[in-house]
Amino acid sequence: MIGDRDTATALIAEARRRFAEASLADPATDARVLVAGVLGLSLSDVLMRGDVAVSRKEAEQVREAISRRCKREPVHRILGRRAFYGLDLQLSPATLEPRPDTEILVDSVLPHLKRTIAEKGSARLLDLGVGTGAIALALLKECPQARAVGSDISEEALSTAERNAHINGVAERFETVRSAWFACIEGRFDIIVSNPPYIPTGVVAELDPEVRDYDPLAALDGGQDGLDAYRALSAGAGNFLEPGGLVAVEIGYDQKNSVTALFEAAGFCLIEARRDYGGNDRVLLFTTRNC
Ligand code: GLN
Repeated sequence: MIGDRDTATALIAEARRRFAEASLADPATDARVLVAGVLGLSLSDVLMRGDVAVSRKEAEQVREAISRRCKREPVHRILGRRAFYGLDLQLSPATLEPRPDTEILVDSVLPHLKRTIAEKGSARLLDLGVGTGAIALALLKECPQARAVGSDISEEALSTAERNAHINGVAERFETVRSAWFACIEGRFDIIVSNPPYIPTGVVAELDPEVRDYDPLAALDGGQDGLDAYRALSAGAGNFLEPGGLVAVEIGYDQKNSVTALFEAAGFCLIEARRDYGGNDRVLLFTTRNC
């Protein structure tokens, strides 16, 4: 407090205390990111100017955000946006919150996309279940010669992805199609990417409240065994890929063998598997080349 006014530093300490009382997993990080975010400050701003008084209105907004976090609403849902692979992405209730693990999918596709561009001068990418646009937009940002189609079953997700394409300066190379997997997709693509729903239906109820109560169920629930989306993706991909094209999918931690079996049955071979930051299998890359 300065006189009767709060400072960012004092609000962070207050948030940290309330988050610890609410038994959140990482009260210190949540407090810094949430308070700085609501105040429109960077984390280094907070270090430099954390003792400057904030207005009463701002302090009220911060306390409201703190209360929401105590009820397990995720920090970035409260802020309405989050960073992903250098992009600034808006979230909506219809979109999964992009995870750092999904950046590994972008990383693993990037060399293939660059090689296609080196060979052909351009590349066409399809992101099925595009959500916020995280994967497609990150790849477009990295590769100015690439174009992408993002599809989703949710109209609201497509609007969010389009808005994010504008915010991140790649809108002229991005278009959206409302589609359940391949149902309304036309044409052929060099690379197909997807982070589909892959949690088995019976496991959704056991997820952390941050995920279960705030990520859209349609982006999480992969059917009884979690593999429904991979059945659709593996069955359709061959009809929408250029010869020698690539399919890259995110998977659940224990799905490497079952997803690989589905794609192998459809004529693909696994060319790369990557683990996430927790050491779990997370990304698989398939092609029909040299199978
Ligand atoms: N990775 C998400 C989670 O941990 C699930 C995302 C998905 O099903 N594609 O909850």
